[in-house]
Amino acid sequence: MAQIKSRDTTEKPPLGAFVANGRTAGSDSIDGPKKLGTFAGGQVWLDPVLMRSDITMVHVNFQPCARTNWHKHEGGQLLKVTAGSGWYCDQGDKPRKIGVGDIVWCPPGGIHWHGADDGSFMVHEATSFGGLDWYEPVSEEDYAAKK
Ligand code: MN
Repeated sequence: MAQIKSRDTTEKPPLGAFVANGRTAGSDSIDGPKKLGTFAGGQVWLDPVLMRSDITMVHVNFQPCARTNWHKHEGGQLLKVTAGSGWYCDQGDKPRKIGVGDIVWCPPGGIHWHGADDGSFMVHEATSFGGLDWYEPVSEEDYAAKK
């Protein structure tokens, strides 16, 4: 059984931040290829939800064929597909198809890419822990390894 504590109702704890429709109020979508330069194959828009130095949460919208460069996350990353379909690929493995509702845990230090299918856009929620190392773009040959 969990321990139930008595609550101090005079305390003023931090308030929850409300994120409407996946967007933080007042923030514009980020043009991934233009502003970050870490994507290939098409347009990618990023909508920040939570941006802290140790953890970020971003909604990422990939147009068909668009994908991240190869990269790794210092503390890992949790992806949840919320619309469309796409691919996730670990270095040394075959691309694996992902669709709405699928969740992928990318372990700390795992080198991978993720992106849209060639016939569909994909939107995923990306919660990332720690820093990020970016590598070269995913080649057409590597992208074509999906079937
Ligand atoms: Mn990733």
